[in-house]
Amino acid sequence: MRVSEDSRTSPQERFQARPYHPLAVPRRATKRGIARTPLERDCDVLICGGSFAGLAVARELADSGADVLVIDRYEIGERQTSACGIPTGWLEALDLQRALQQTFGELVIHTPYTTVRYRLPWTFSTFDYGTLCEALADQGAFTFETAKVDGRSGKVVHTDRGDIRAGMIVDALGWRRVLGAGENVQPPEALLSRGLEVHPNGSGDDMEIWIDRSYVPAGYGWSFPAGDELRIGVGSFDPRFHVREPTVRLATDLSAETVRYQGNWIPHALRNATEDGLFFAGDSAGHCLPLTAEGIRTALYFGLAVGRELSDVLGGRRSVSDALLRYSRFSASNARAFEWMLRCQRLVPRVPTRQLAGALRTMESKRFLDWAFGHYLEIAHPRFVTAGPRRAPVAVRVPAQMLDPARAAASRSAVP
Ligand SMILES: Cc1cc2nc3c(=O)[nH]c(=O)nc-3n(C[C@H](O)[C@H](O)[C@H](O)COP(=O)(O)OP(=O)(O)OC[C@H]3O[C@@H](n4cnc5c(N)ncnc54)[C@H](O)[C@@H]3O)c2cc1C
Repeated sequence: MRVSEDSRTSPQERFQARPYHPLAVPRRATKRGIARTPLERDCDVLICGGSFAGLAVARELADSGADVLVIDRYEIGERQTSACGIPTGWLEALDLQRALQQTFGELVIHTPYTTVRYRLPWTFSTFDYGTLCEALADQGAFTFETAKVDGRSGKVVHTDRGDIRAGMIVDALGWRRVLGAGENVQPPEALLSRGLEVHPNGSGDDMEIWIDRSYVPAGYGWSFPAGDELRIGVGSFDPRFHVREPTVRLATDLSAETVRYQGNWIPHALRNATEDGLFFAGDSAGHCLPLTAEGIRTALYFGLAVGRELSDVLGGRRSVSDALLRYSRFSASNARAFEWMLRCQRLVPRVPTRQLAGALRTMESKRFLDWAFGHYLEIAHPRFVTAGPRRAPVAVRVPAQMLDPARAAASRSAVP
């Protein structure tokens, strides 16, 4: 293992040398080609993945005073992998309204036999991915480096730029769960859906869904307007079913151009949220809701939960093992809701199309919609943002080797 400049200094010296501003813009260090210099260092908290889950973890550590490093193979906000639709309450709660593009009070669902227009008890919004990531990153205080994560040995994460050692590690790398122990399950065997969309120029007033088996036997199509862009795509719950042709067909049927493709695998089953001393949040833990494939607010929700646990460890309020146990239980406590959604995901494709149309019409009553969508939002409600403490800055950073509460408390009281 190579020894970097950084790791020859003590954690305390590095912390003192570093400007510390809880709300400062993270320092960027994108390295490409020959400028991609070796990156070998240690840190208190290593967050792998700088998208929704990873940035939510970092946000909760802004006041911790810890040496937090976020790594991602791309710049923060560079690669969008989603239609970027979210309950507006989440944007408001996290003060991310500047990313908001368009808000919808209704959901329009088309089937071959009917079109229903559901008035939602709360609104849904589309947002700009890059702006949201920037705004969320601004709420953290961390160092950012571009690096591709290849794997790990214990608490050492191997990247294409070198090895990083950390007291606490978070895998927020998405469905691949790169840092999980053992061989990862790959599609199509894994419990994954697949989604693909195009982003043509265009505009619209409605957030629309197609449950139409001529596009996809098990899944749905969508068109989410976002200002002067439409996000039109198809998702299949069956990973063996290819969605490129139906995506092109849906876009063509809507007289939209088939340009700017983006797609990914989407997990539809919860996985262990902790493993081998690591924390997993977002798609890496299967935190994407089955049936709707809504995974942004849940990635934020579980990311915040991880951040709060880590913050308590760094503040000397609990041990790492306690934090792992608490977070694992917290994630598992949502299992019933995820299983219920998965049951619906399996049921809907089996309902004959005419009956489905009838059922959708029956559900149009305000009372039912308020009840159903109210319960749906309760899975990862935006009030969770304000439920957690934004703690006052601690006087001293807790180095990685001091991650047991007694030693951390002793170190705090030693500060004049
Ligand atoms: C086509 C499509 C449309 C979708 N639309 C919506 C929607 O409208 N609303 C919604 O709520 N959900 C939607 N989803 C689901 C949603 O995108 C995901 O659930 C969500 O992005 C999960 O967030 P995350 O932070 O866990 O993972 P990701 O957003 O996938 O972030 C993972 C991060 O890790 C980085 N990374 C991955 N591997 C490595 C590596 N080896 N080394 C370094 N970095 C790495 C990536 O660059 C990325 O920044 C959609 C999904 C798809 C595929």
